[in-house]
Amino acid sequence: MRVAEGVEQFTDQGIVNWFLVETDEGPVAVDAGFPTAWKQISDRASELRAIVLTHAHIDHLGFAPIAQRKHGTPVYVPEKDVGLAKNPLYYAKSERLPLIYALRYAPTRRIYWRGAKAVGMLGKTVKDPTPYREGDALPGGLKAIFTPGHTKGHMALHLPDRDLLFVGDTIVTHDPYTDRTGPRLIARAATWNVETNLASLDRIAATGASTLVVGHGEPWRNGAAAAAAAAREAGAA
Ligand SMILES: [Zn+2]
Repeated sequence: MRVAEGVEQFTDQGIVNWFLVETDEGPVAVDAGFPTAWKQISDRASELRAIVLTHAHIDHLGFAPIAQRKHGTPVYVPEKDVGLAKNPLYYAKSERLPLIYALRYAPTRRIYWRGAKAVGMLGKTVKDPTPYREGDALPGGLKAIFTPGHTKGHMALHLPDRDLLFVGDTIVTHDPYTDRTGPRLIARAATWNVETNLASLDRIAATGASTLVVGHGEPWRNGAAAAAAAAREAGAA
């Protein structure tokens, strides 16, 4: 699905979005789904200029290790998520025990089951990440905005010339752990620190971007400030 000029959104496993941005230097992927998303990129994988991750959860770094191994593709990882990108654990420490959510919510069981299948098949971690911070020059003119909370190092990525903001999982419009929709934080089962995440919403609003694309759910076209306000109101399950 085309979400902005030269920007395509892909959905892997019916759960997680990743994006292909056409740039003068070649296509740049923002996030990389589960490893199964390799099928969606494979015919263009050798052209990839880079993969830029918003954060290093396993459902976002998916095909990055494969592209790196096969084509030497650079994989940009937020500095404070580098440990996570190299960590073989399926999920980093979250605010609440995922098990509680798995017992309570069928969608949580679904994401773990699909995740375990997808990762079990091809799962690897990023061996040679390129760490980045806010202010660093990134491929494709992406501008990093430090938005910690979902993970310690989470970044939103702004493309001002296309009036588009990749918010990663700072805000989602579908919580795959509960199936709730509308701008919100992702469930505490998958969030490092909710208070920190809430504070990062101001930084999202400050971009003034018209269109927001998210790690989970449909694009939001009513502006960054409205999305941030709605997410603050809804909070995290
Ligand atoms: Zn995540």
